[in-house]
Amino acid sequence: MKKRILVTGGAGFLGSHLCERLLNEGNEVICLDNFFTGSKQNVIHLIDNPYFEMIRHDVTMPFFIEVDEIYNLACPASPIHYQYNAIKTIKTSVMGAINMLGLAKRVKAKVLQASTSEVYGDPEIHPQTEDYWGHVNPIGLRSCYDEGKRCAESLFFNYHRQNDVRIKVMRIFNTYGPRMDPNDGRVVSNFIVQALKNEDITIYGDGSQTRSFCYVDDLLEGMVRLMNTPDAFTGPVNIGNPGEFTILELAQNVIELTNSKSKIINQPLPADDPMQRQPDITIAKKELGWEPKIPLQEGLIKTIEYFKSVI
Ligand code: NAD
Ligand code: UDP
Repeated sequence: MKKRILVTGGAGFLGSHLCERLLNEGNEVICLDNFFTGSKQNVIHLIDNPYFEMIRHDVTMPFFIEVDEIYNLACPASPIHYQYNAIKTIKTSVMGAINMLGLAKRVKAKVLQASTSEVYGDPEIHPQTEDYWGHVNPIGLRSCYDEGKRCAESLFFNYHRQNDVRIKVMRIFNTYGPRMDPNDGRVVSNFIVQALKNEDITIYGDGSQTRSFCYVDDLLEGMVRLMNTPDAFTGPVNIGNPGEFTILELAQNVIELTNSKSKIINQPLPADDPMQRQPDITIAKKELGWEPKIPLQEGLIKTIEYFKSVI
């Protein structure tokens, strides 16, 4: 059955892939975005589809529409972008959640929140399970994002308990792939762009910190499966690739796959940069029947091809 689906942040990296996928599955898609970090270019190939609508709007303002499902992705995701206007980032997470939950309540839509592994902060348990409450600096430079997302999770669960809103909370771990913004400062895009230009690869700190990188197609499969779970399942659920790599290993992989002449240089580690991150995906496997399929090298090759075409 054709559903009418709202995707906030739909012109961003993950949102644009999601809009495309939902349209391909035969749905009607409304993409809402204020174009802060996203761009029309990401969805330009969808514009001619009569079942696709693009709306310039800011989620901090109320929005009225009739829809069956809402994917709430609007929020800058890279540290450079979310720290650019920290107060706005908090407003986007918190007021955006309130507006989308209010909308879901009124039209009885299901609503999915793109939460983050950042709710775990700099974790003291490894790998991270959903029952871990996290280790977040509430006043640090990353707090606008971390605490904004934590407050959004609280709002989701309170709307669920108080108003029976049908919610899905997804904790996304570092995801990469085509349509990442080459200038947003995230590690995969930075390293690939630097390697392709034979510029120095900038490792912050000694490169021993770890991340677990999920390819965008795997991530979206988990996201759509989560939306389609029975109402009783709300999450939170970790979606990410448990393959854990140091940032130095990532740099070495990128240099090898691009045949780059780049040298690795070290720069200071930003404040509160988490030392390790790896999702425990037991719940995703059980409840969604999901696990990632694309290993890092394979995903990097596809992403490198994309960056070759845009830079
Ligand atoms: P992105 O920056 O490419 O996309 C975010 C989109 O939201 C952009 O199109 C931006 O213009 C839009 N936006 C920002 N503020 C808005 C506002 N106030 N009103 C309307 N639109 C607004 O980032 P992404 O990687 O695609 O991330 C999408 C979501 O997934 C975010 O909520 C992010 O926190 C979450 N997430 C992503 C990752 C990842 O690794 N990519 C990891 C964890 C969580
Ligand atoms: N990083 C790095 N060099 C870069 C960009 C990032 O060493 O050019 C490091 C960063 O300090 C962090 C990791 O890579 O330890 C992941 O950074 P990113 O901004 O991609 O995401 P997050 O820290 O939010 O996981």
